[in-house]
Amino acid sequence: MSQTSFTLSGRDGAARTGVISTPRGEIRTPAFMPVGTAATVKAMLPESVRATGADILLGNTYHLMLRPGAERVARLGGLQKFMNWERPILTDSGGFQVMSLAGLRKLTEEGVTFKSHIDGSKHMLSPESSMEIQRLLGSDIVMCFDECPALPADRKRIEESMRLSMRWAQRSRDAFGDRPGHMLFGIQQGGLEEDLRGESAEALRSIGFDGYAVGGLAVGEGQEAMFKVLDFAPGQLPEDKPRYLMGVGKPDDIVGAVKRGIDMMDCVLPSRSGRTGQAWTRRGMVNIKNARHQDDPRPLDEHCSCPACRSYSRAYLHHVYRAGEMISGMLLTWHNLHYYQELMQGLRDAIAGGTFAAFEEEFHAQRAEGDIPPL
Ligand SMILES: [Zn+2]
Repeated sequence: MSQTSFTLSGRDGAARTGVISTPRGEIRTPAFMPVGTAATVKAMLPESVRATGADILLGNTYHLMLRPGAERVARLGGLQKFMNWERPILTDSGGFQVMSLAGLRKLTEEGVTFKSHIDGSKHMLSPESSMEIQRLLGSDIVMCFDECPALPADRKRIEESMRLSMRWAQRSRDAFGDRPGHMLFGIQQGGLEEDLRGESAEALRSIGFDGYAVGGLAVGEGQEAMFKVLDFAPGQLPEDKPRYLMGVGKPDDIVGAVKRGIDMMDCVLPSRSGRTGQAWTRRGMVNIKNARHQDDPRPLDEHCSCPACRSYSRAYLHHVYRAGEMISGMLLTWHNLHYYQELMQGLRDAIAGGTFAAFEEEFHAQRAEGDIPPL
């Protein structure tokens, strides 16, 4: 008995809606996963993250293995208990962040050795050690250890990297073993090349996973190139398993990805931009630091029910941002996560109701209007 499942309940074109069931709770799809890099979604209490409608969080293996350490998290009852989020958590494999953050990397068939960006200490990540670290963290959805070149990269480099990742996918599968209640996702690579993506999908299908990620996108290729890949990549993956687009994205990236058959996404954007004075609304992005807000008694978005919009004016949000007050990041992050989850609920409802095209049209029309005019 696997104790996990994925049930599709509705489709509209290539878009799908359904539920991933795990012993720690259900994940409604399409799902957006807020990022809790270091066992916290910055500036938010876990219960507030839940109140925005999030069913699952993402944790970063690279950060957590270095600090506080996976063994320590295991001794303290696992990541869910440690951070007071007793719901599903997905952890990445650490591979992507080793490439982007660590110093002095050395890549071999065995894995990657690197120096910590925190204290310079030497570490090794391999498919086997990544599976062990994610097991110690207590992750509900575990990602295969993979390697991915930054784009643009030449075809030969992408091909070699993809084939290495597929050998690592088999090693990840073998090391993961049989763990009822936990899911292991494979990661498709192959850059922007349809045939390489196809080869990668075939390799993953023959190994067999509980879900499949489209990896190697959102690494600088741009939205148009990403959508071109998403026109074929989800269709190369099994129909009856969740499809996860890693590291995406802006609201319009999300709508376009869901339209093309993606079920799960994650991105630091709503939380990170909340700390830099940027608010995402149905009418696009609002820069709260702009002087036009300093006398504006209106909320960010009068239709939003989040605490930032319900109880505070643009003038106040502007003031606390300019004054460097912590409540600025707290309120804007809450608003942004609330907006993202409301967008996901809208997408799920539209797919279930067969009205995706109308939803998409309205989404773009509202954004085209731009922010409300200044007073
Ligand atoms: Zn709001």
